[in-house]
Amino acid sequence: MEINKLEPEKKHGLVVVLTGNGKGKTTSAMGMALRAAGHQMRVCIIQFMKGDIYSGEWDGVKLLGDLVELHSTGKGFCGIQGNPYPHSEHRENAQQALKLVDQKMLSGEYDVLILDEINNALQLKLIDLDQVLAILDNKPELLHLVITGRDAHEEVLSRADTASRVDEITHAYRKDIEPQPGIDY
Ligand code: ATP
Ligand code: MG
Repeated sequence: MEINKLEPEKKHGLVVVLTGNGKGKTTSAMGMALRAAGHQMRVCIIQFMKGDIYSGEWDGVKLLGDLVELHSTGKGFCGIQGNPYPHSEHRENAQQALKLVDQKMLSGEYDVLILDEINNALQLKLIDLDQVLAILDNKPELLHLVITGRDAHEEVLSRADTASRVDEITHAYRKDIEPQPGIDY
């Protein structure tokens, strides 16, 4: 069978927001990276907060070659039990990550920029609303921007072209099943 490859008549750089309490936001963003790589598109993933606990996507994206790069900038989830770093340190980290976002976003080297858990970073005041809105304002027209994390700010949602809220119907943790590699991290 012949396979058709569609081309849009007009290219749009979309703002996609993935939020909600259910599982599937980060992995949906990683799915877009996989899909984009298939189109030979270049993807940059910048993870806020994450960095202290290994997650499979860190090496998984390397299997996609040079098309996808991932920067894990955080020191774990600020304020959760067992995280030893003060808010000021998490904030300093997130502020550095914003500089990386600007640099990557304006470099012209990428087709897709994924800002994973940036909603959480905003909610926890590691970054400010005007800083997130500035990213949206300065986004190059054809760059796709994917934003993930619980508790997306209403103003961020209002700027999205595509926004999804992932609802939790249930989650394995409710049965006391611990996080499983490949699925949860
Ligand atoms: P995933 O990375 O699996 O797509 P997510 O990005 O939607 O999940 P996060 O809020 O970023 O969800 O949570 C990250 C991790 O916590 C994942 O391993 C996920 O399975 C797990 N998780 C998601 N929802 C819950 C929950 N309600 N309680 C405990 N752990 C959860
Ligand atoms: Mg996530």
